[in-house]
Amino acid sequence: MRPHPIEPEKLKVLESLPTPSFVIDEGRLISNLKTLSEVQQLSGCKVLLAQKCFSTFAMYPLIGRYIAGTVASGIYEARLSHEEMGKENHVFAPAYKPEDIEELDNICGHIVFNSWRQYGLHSPRCKNASLGIRINPEFSTQNHAIYDPCSHGSRLGVRISQMPDDLPERIEGFHFHTLCEQGADDLERTFMAFESKFKKYFPKLKWLNLGGGHYITHEDYDRGKLVSLLNYIKDQYGLQTYLEPGEAVVLNSGYLVSEVLDKVSNGIEILILDASAACHCPDAIEMPFAPPVYGTDEDNGKYHYRLSSMTCLAGDKFGDYDFIEPKEITDKVVFEDMALYTMVKTNTFNGMSLPGIYVLKEDLSVETVKKFGYGDFKNRLG
Ligand SMILES: *Cc1c(COP(=O)(O)O)cnc(C)c1O
Repeated sequence: MRPHPIEPEKLKVLESLPTPSFVIDEGRLISNLKTLSEVQQLSGCKVLLAQKCFSTFAMYPLIGRYIAGTVASGIYEARLSHEEMGKENHVFAPAYKPEDIEELDNICGHIVFNSWRQYGLHSPRCKNASLGIRINPEFSTQNHAIYDPCSHGSRLGVRISQMPDDLPERIEGFHFHTLCEQGADDLERTFMAFESKFKKYFPKLKWLNLGGGHYITHEDYDRGKLVSLLNYIKDQYGLQTYLEPGEAVVLNSGYLVSEVLDKVSNGIEILILDASAACHCPDAIEMPFAPPVYGTDEDNGKYHYRLSSMTCLAGDKFGDYDFIEPKEITDKVVFEDMALYTMVKTNTFNGMSLPGIYVLKEDLSVETVKKFGYGDFKNRLG
């Protein structure tokens, strides 16, 4: 992915921070939130932050000013939203623990079950929440099996063959989530497949949650198509729609700033950084993808480096990059698009430190959210 330009004054501030650090770019976050808020206004849809992607709750008051609330993957995220945002709080998990249900029912307005057995086990103890069931529309539009809930053998959602003729009385909504970094075309095709199989149930429903994976704030996303589809669902079926993007909320709104500690060569020049893909951006290894890096240019960059880490894991690398300028020891390396699926996934493998978390304001002042140290490594282990 190509890096976005960073203004020189902004870069100077980023490079002045201790390393490694995550920095949230408030201006870029606000710009995403404005786009999402506009989708809400044009369609009547409610947009929820998927907290599994981004849970840096220092930003929740800001996020809550623009979108309707959050979705949680379980009790901890649900509590975090209740405590730190206090707006709509939805939860979906493949299974719930019996001891969590009462609290979830008290703090979540919407609870989505993954199977009829889960619904049967837990719904009698739900007194307040609106209940829904996750559907597997059995319609794949992507090739990443690890992110495809419609893949063969998926445990996620109820298939049409498992639907009763009449919906259980308490079910007020359907939920499906099948996309990952995808456009409105794929959503439209998925909705049409879902509609043709499941529409006989729609008259009994109040709401429909179309999940996440919508790349709404990406420059190529067709928001007009999304808004038309949402309006069609509202007008044709009278359903309140929800979208629960993670990535789209914080797309391109964060950096990971690191420092070059050493330079070694072995057929290729390798920079050893104080940041780690394995510890600070596991998706770079799991997905895998190479995050954009400031100062690189795959067409014109003349300095080829592998960006690697001070851990002892041989495969701990972010990727191979072409830099425009040479890099030396003590230079900074700034990874971009580092707000999503990073801070929520960090770990202290190899005794690595957790990057500090900072917010870069629009006036280029910096707010410290949290610094971490040895205690954060030790306390988790005993
Ligand atoms: C992961 C997930 C999301 C968010 O997905 P993004 O790709 O980050 O937009 C939303 N809903 C569910 C059920 C998810 O599992």
